[in-house]
Amino acid sequence: MNTKVTATQIPLNTCACTCGEPVGPKATYRPGHDARHAGMVARAVVENPKQAKALLATLPSDALRAKAQRAVARATAPKPEPKAKTEEQAA
Ligand SMILES: [Zn+2]
Repeated sequence: MNTKVTATQIPLNTCACTCGEPVGPKATYRPGHDARHAGMVARAVVENPKQAKALLATLPSDALRAKAQRAVARATAPKPEPKAKTEEQAA
């Protein structure tokens, strides 16, 4: 059986966070850079809320998109009052 792989010229991938560092053929990110990318996208969304969809689409997984969206929510949430605790949804 010929196990020789002809497609050995797999282009070296670069980390998806745009840092430009090379990653293995199966990897998308350098270790830890997925969180970094989510953070970058979150910041970009905060600055360009109208581009949110397109920006989030640059993340390769739902988990990262969710992470970025949580970061956006944190960044855009009104700062909690230091002392006065507001009633939480007295339903
Ligand atoms: Zn990176």
